[in-house]
Amino acid sequence: MHDILPTDMPVWNQVEDEYRRLAESYGYRQIRTPILEKSALFQRSIGEATDIIEKEMYSFDDRNGDSLSLRPENTASVVRAGLQNGLFNGQHQRLWYCGPMFRHERPQKGRYRQFYQLGAEAFGMAGADIEAELIFLAARFWKVLGLDYISLQINTLGSSECRSRYREILVSYFRDHSAALDDDSLRRLETNPLRILDSKNPDMQALLEDAPTLKQHLDPQSDEHFSSLMDILDYAQVSYEVNPRLVRGLDYYSHSVFEWVTDTLGAQGTVCAGGRYDGLVEQLGGRADYAAGFAIGCERLVAMIIDQNQAQKQQNCDVYFLVQGEGSVRIAHKVAEGLRDKLPQLSMIVHADGGSFKSQMRKAHKSGAKLALILGESEIESGNVSIKYLREDAAQIEIAQPELPGKLAQLI
Ligand code: ATP
Ligand code: MG
Repeated sequence: MHDILPTDMPVWNQVEDEYRRLAESYGYRQIRTPILEKSALFQRSIGEATDIIEKEMYSFDDRNGDSLSLRPENTASVVRAGLQNGLFNGQHQRLWYCGPMFRHERPQKGRYRQFYQLGAEAFGMAGADIEAELIFLAARFWKVLGLDYISLQINTLGSSECRSRYREILVSYFRDHSAALDDDSLRRLETNPLRILDSKNPDMQALLEDAPTLKQHLDPQSDEHFSSLMDILDYAQVSYEVNPRLVRGLDYYSHSVFEWVTDTLGAQGTVCAGGRYDGLVEQLGGRADYAAGFAIGCERLVAMIIDQNQAQKQQNCDVYFLVQGEGSVRIAHKVAEGLRDKLPQLSMIVHADGGSFKSQMRKAHKSGAKLALILGESEIESGNVSIKYLREDAAQIEIAQPELPGKLAQLI
């Protein structure tokens, strides 16, 4: 659990103030729920076989012997509050919240045991239009904050019927390959097989790539629901990628799910996650109701803004040169020295001291450079260098090494 010091508070206030203004401007109204709830609320909503319930909750017995937990997220609490206070009952309800959440995770950059979320929840609306609205709200928030490098991934989990059919297909696929499953996944095969798709274990990625996808087994209504979300996004020219592996870590989602991700933060790159969760209201004792929402991780957004502010202060770097893989160091330096010969005005940082692609990319963003040059194993093989635009939304290009000075002269 971390302190937020006065130097960073202006950025926190900016994030919270802009979100409040924006959410209200879309017709969302604020709700505040207690930080402590009965543990059973989270067990019933988030799902027994999830990381949060299995190992991340701060739970204790109070003086009456009731098990209470610090809230690990706010959706379950909002639904509980809505039910107890008659906010649903078939009405349209748009709500937003802000506050601290608690999960006993391994602390690392972008992952804390107390962290803040900003969220939005919309109740009573069945269509993909409300999901699109939530996506537009988030997209506008990034724009207001001046954050450029956040991209959208979407997927559908279908209706609960087609998900249970798919579950069987998936279980039989994983049973056939059980030797390749790690212990967590073997356990999940019994309890929550969809979550295996969410595994970050590098040894299992090939198996997961080849797994049958839900998209292949969608019923027509679910397919139509997802298509209409894509249609609204396409028409509004919001770009996205369909990621069939996106299943979300919580059990209560159905139909559309989405994540906003960035590669500027290193390993913890998801800044916002959400989707539709029809069924949760009923699961928590209410009349069945439609619901969709998202949660934004404030620490990650604040880190992006601070990095960006720093980058803007360092104005004199044009190019950051990423050096990746066996044998690339000497080639990169030769290419770089050749560039310095031909373009004496070029200001270029050549990455030193190795590190993953993600960590080098993060340094590139931080440097304030306009362009990243990438020399990895595939470029060495082809005799090319890749150019990635860091300040505009243009596709990465790959050009032959001899053409590089001419191209850079045009670009910087
Ligand atoms: P992850 O896969 O990163 O663990 P999650 O699926 O557990 O994320 P959600 O419960 O959907 O995350 O929370 C929404 C957002 O809240 C995340 O995308 C992230 O930005 C933020 N978040 C989640 N857990 C933490 C944490 N421990 N520390 C900081 N931010 C967090
Ligand atoms: Mg998590």
